[in-house]
Amino acid sequence: MVFRVPTGDRGSDQGHVDYRLSRASTINSYRSGELSYSEVTDAHPELVRAAGQVGTPTPGSCPVCEREGTLVHVTYVFGPRLPSHGRCITLRGELARLARRPGRHVAYVVEVCQECSWNHLVRRSALQSEPGDVQETEDLER
Ligand SMILES: [Zn+2]
Repeated sequence: MVFRVPTGDRGSDQGHVDYRLSRASTINSYRSGELSYSEVTDAHPELVRAAGQVGTPTPGSCPVCEREGTLVHVTYVFGPRLPSHGRCITLRGELARLARRPGRHVAYVVEVCQECSWNHLVRRSALQSEPGDVQETEDLER
């Protein structure tokens, strides 16, 4: 994996898990000096590359370098016949197509700052194959 899954994760591949609390606690630890700058800006080179190429721009400023317009979300999907490090979603509609495949597919959305390489898992959700119930995360096709 090119991103960290916060400790305490139950490891279930069902449903939807939101990592906002874990993200907030990581940011607090950084601001209080418990975590160093290099510890929170350690994005894997592959993740940084994916962020630049296929990241979805995300509003708000980076919690670490405080720049605007540098945060993106990158989505990885894990499931049968996908690479063990996950498939990085590069195309619109790709999630919906993966959801229709047999077997369980789980999507991980990672926040990455293109300026300082801050990165944190945002959420994880099991892809649903029912029409209209697909978690297209950033860009719902309506
Ligand atoms: Zn930043």
